[in-house]
Amino acid sequence: MINKSQLQVEAINHGTVIDHIPAGQGIKILQLFGLIKNKERITVGLNLPSVALGSKDIIKVENTWLSAEQANQLALFAPDATVNLIEDFEVGEKLQLQLPEQVEGVFSCPNSNCISHNEQVSSKFKVRAVKRQVRFRCNYCEKSFHQDFMTF
Ligand SMILES: [Zn+2]
Repeated sequence: MINKSQLQVEAINHGTVIDHIPAGQGIKILQLFGLIKNKERITVGLNLPSVALGSKDIIKVENTWLSAEQANQLALFAPDATVNLIEDFEVGEKLQLQLPEQVEGVFSCPNSNCISHNEQVSSKFKVRAVKRQVRFRCNYCEKSFHQDFMTF
C-alpha cells in the first residue's frame, strides 16, 4: 500500500525540505532566499492538503542547506514551518524556527512616502507576531504593516 501523502512531492537525496508553509507563502519564501537563482533542482508543492493548516505549501531544494539565520527569516512568513535537512534520504537535522526581533535590509517599506526610499539607508523593521500573523514596524516612518504587504 503506497501512502498517497508521501507522494505529493518526491523525496530528495541531499538538501532541505521546508514543510507546513501556510498556502500562498511558498513563492515569497523562494524569493526571500533567492532560491530560484541558484541552479539546484527545486520541487515546489502549492496548496497541498494539510490537516493542521487546511492547505499548505512545501519546498524541497536539493544540495542546499538553510542556515539557522535563514530559518529565522523563514519564520517571518511561516512561523510553524518545519525545516528538515536531508542527507542520504534521511532527516539529518531539524532546524528550530525563531522569529527575529528585527529585519534589516531585506524588505522595502510599503509606505511610498517613507524616507527610507530617498535616503541611502537600509530598511529596518521591528518584528512581532500577533495571532500567527507577523507584523512589521518600520524604523523610519514608524508605520506597521501586515506580512502580506511586505515586498523585497
Ligand atoms: Zn517606512
